[in-house]
Amino acid sequence: MRKIVVKFGGSSLANAEQFKKSADIVRQDASRRYVIPSAPGKRFDGDTKVTDMLYGCYRTAEKGLDFTNQLRAIRERYNEIILGLSLDLSLDDEFEVIEQNFKNGAGLEYAASRGEYLNGKIMAACLGYEFVDAAEVVRFETDGGFDPEVTNQLMAARLETCERAVIPGFYGAEENGKVRTFSRGGSDITGSLAARAICADMYETWTDVSGFLVTDPRIVKNPETIETITYRELRELAYMGATVLHEEAIFPVRKEGIPINIEKSLMNSEIGFGRKVLQVFEDQGISFEHMPSGIDTMTIYVHQSEFEEKEQQVIAGIHRAVQPDFVEMESDLALIAVVGRGMKSTRGTAGRIFSALAHANVNVKMIDQGSSELNIIIGVENRDFETAVRAIYDIFVITQM
Ligand code: ASP
Repeated sequence: MRKIVVKFGGSSLANAEQFKKSADIVRQDASRRYVIPSAPGKRFDGDTKVTDMLYGCYRTAEKGLDFTNQLRAIRERYNEIILGLSLDLSLDDEFEVIEQNFKNGAGLEYAASRGEYLNGKIMAACLGYEFVDAAEVVRFETDGGFDPEVTNQLMAARLETCERAVIPGFYGAEENGKVRTFSRGGSDITGSLAARAICADMYETWTDVSGFLVTDPRIVKNPETIETITYRELRELAYMGATVLHEEAIFPVRKEGIPINIEKSLMNSEIGFGRKVLQVFEDQGISFEHMPSGIDTMTIYVHQSEFEEKEQQVIAGIHRAVQPDFVEMESDLALIAVVGRGMKSTRGTAGRIFSALAHANVNVKMIDQGSSELNIIIGVENRDFETAVRAIYDIFVITQM
């Protein structure tokens, strides 16, 4: 029998009505054998996701303050779902354990993970599927890093024993049982891990947004959807936006960066210059995004948030390592990725992008295209970001319609 792993986002499980629709989707195809639920998301604009309620509740607990009301509100979210589905299920014991663990300082990640855990219990009861705790099958190392190989082995071995199962998304545990979570929206990761482990025929992810959008709907109104997307494109997009799979798909996406211009005459003939500079970033645990260079200049793009607190150490380190003539920093830049497999075989993509930007009066600060020709990265000032995205969207989508 075919094996499909199916993941539901928080908005698809936000209340009983949505939950029912999701369960019906699973029942429609007997091959949908492994189900990955998120925690209940927003029921309406302005509502709070259960994950955020859990973070808030645990922060109160951590301060030694009374968190009864906050925990009760979370419990009500679940009870509303259980009641609406007419399930014969009580989470009372679970909530007692959670309350106790909050008091004992189980950690913020443990707290957040309960959103998926409890929703998994409900989903399993609703479908009559086995519940597999993600803490058993998704393994993190003691420093919090994810261990893909051990996870794959554990997950494969465990899922082999069950024909149908619900595995909550977003979390796992260290070998000693300490619960760890992925970054926000991480239920998608769990879904793909399960799909890999069981060699699924298909991995489906269901959300309330239909398809991948060509660009960010917050900037361009009602953008077109992408009909088919390759893994590599998806990866490029996910990397730039990190939310592609689990939120509105974002085509050109913004990542704030700081370029650091390093200038030294005769840099070009100094072998090892680049390595020494990059070593400084490595020593500070900062990853770099792009590194365009001139004959006597080198520019390194890094994330503003990662860099800010280490600025002094990095600058001092560069001075020590390569004695530059000049080091300059700029902030508040935005990177836009234009991604597409069609680029490789078409001429003029770059030309069109840059003439569109020129017409829109946007100054381009950085250009990067790798040999894969799958994407072109463009750095612009933050204040030009939205204008630039619209101009690019217009030139490729609007003018072609
Ligand atoms: N519930 C988590 C979050 O809100 C993970 C997820 O939904 O995928 O980020």
